[in-house]
Amino acid sequence: MPPSPASAYPCGLVWFRRDLRAEDHAALYHALTQCAQVHCVFVFDTDILDTLPRADRRVEFIRESLVELDAALRNLCGHAQGGLIVRHAAASEAVPALAEELGAQAVFANHDDEPAALERDSQVRTRLAAASRAFHTFKDHTVLERSEVLTQSGSPYSVFTPYKNAWLKKVDAFQLSSYPVERHAHRLAPRPPTCRHAVPDLAWLGFEPAGLAQLRIPTGASGARQLLKDFLGRIARYDTARDFPAIKGPSYLSVHLRFGTISPRVLARTAHGLMREGNAGATTWLSELIWRDFYFQILHHHPHVVGHSFKPAYDAIQWETGPEADALFAAWCEGRTGYPLVDAAMAQINQTGYMHNRLRMVVASFLVKDLGLDWRRGEAYFAEHLNDFDLAANNGGWQWASSSGCDAQPYFRIFNPVSQSEKFDPEGKFIRRYLPQLARLPDKALHAPWLARPLDLQEAGVHLGRDYPHPVVDHDAARQRTLARYAVVKAAHAD
Ligand code: FAD
Repeated sequence: MPPSPASAYPCGLVWFRRDLRAEDHAALYHALTQCAQVHCVFVFDTDILDTLPRADRRVEFIRESLVELDAALRNLCGHAQGGLIVRHAAASEAVPALAEELGAQAVFANHDDEPAALERDSQVRTRLAAASRAFHTFKDHTVLERSEVLTQSGSPYSVFTPYKNAWLKKVDAFQLSSYPVERHAHRLAPRPPTCRHAVPDLAWLGFEPAGLAQLRIPTGASGARQLLKDFLGRIARYDTARDFPAIKGPSYLSVHLRFGTISPRVLARTAHGLMREGNAGATTWLSELIWRDFYFQILHHHPHVVGHSFKPAYDAIQWETGPEADALFAAWCEGRTGYPLVDAAMAQINQTGYMHNRLRMVVASFLVKDLGLDWRRGEAYFAEHLNDFDLAANNGGWQWASSSGCDAQPYFRIFNPVSQSEKFDPEGKFIRRYLPQLARLPDKALHAPWLARPLDLQEAGVHLGRDYPHPVVDHDAARQRTLARYAVVKAAHAD
């Protein structure tokens, strides 16, 4: 197709990263409106893949979602040879090399503000610029980003509620509207003959299946739509249901938001519309989406949170170390702490890659304030195991639990794992699902089996120390140790 007079570039390349959909996509829209011909690429980045275990649910999720993205692009292009170009290489080199191969004058991508991604993008920008090619990036992963929501004095917010109020004031129909990609899709180019291969399978990438199909985690844009449809039928009850892990309360869309198989604008627009109609569940859910934007802007403005406490005084805390601490950490990871709600939650993440939000708070608090372990150990474990692992939200969640973060839980507020269990899993349905060895204990005994009557244990066939561990710490004693440990930050609180 000849360049249209309106096209800034004869040929452009869209680089997909954490935005694996062909609808309402900022970079794709901008490329289609600025280039006469547009190619699309996804790079299985060896700089990332080489660090992962050989069976990883995220890699499988990405691979399945790419198959759908490839088909969607082909469909939009209307050409049998349309679709996605897929590379398996170091992205920082592969993208500039492909731009050269295609003769693309510009590469288009959506923002990724994680420090490693910014470093990668800076290398790509430099390499492209050396060949006189442009690199254009856009907001897409959040509704409002970076410095779009600032205080009246022009500084970033570090407390959520005023941020949320300012976010709600700022957001308008434009921010919530979708990018009309389909209208310009005729500019999608067929893949050149050198690039005509399908999305590689896992084995070709050097990975094994990680069980996504068995877990029935729906992938791709169609999977996200399916989850959204299901959730919209119960969104009105979200505010009351979301805290109970045995209930289907939340949306389970986090992995889709992580990999961009659904647009955050679509979700926020839907929730915002329902909120205006007085839907309490949607109002609370919109707040959660705003927490997501909040943590992204925290990471953007305070990149030191990677590896360090948001509040520097908290880096003076002395965490437990040595073989005993390592053994406690192993018990936490493997769900052997003797606190049923904590252990059931760890079984959930280990078996499925998902953990309910309430439980993320409970197990994070337990690691830091009952076991006295550095929050960064838990953060790293979640990063390895969560399907929806997102640096900004994960770091924000861990720093909230350890009290070192912006707008965090005060250090002297220490969750009691037994009362959390009694309150949020009163009938023990969640615990019984993940800890079948305790299933026959009466509800009352389930939350703290070491306090159960010997007869109840016997009748349920539970022999503590054999079928289920004794508690690895005493909560009340741990609480006292934590208050002493956090004494070093008292002064910072007094300020
Ligand atoms: P829903 O309740 O349906 O919420 C909708 C969406 O809002 C979520 O998909 C998510 O994108 C966003 N959201 C909800 N709660 C939060 C929150 N507190 N902070 C930021 N965004 C939020 N979320 C991640 O996406 N990735 C992580 O790596 C992650 N790590 C966490 C670690 C800890 C210690 C804690 C306490 C929370 C963490 N969260 C993380 C936030 C939250 O637990 C998950 O987003 C949520 O459980 C995902 O389930 P859902 O999609 O069903 O959520």
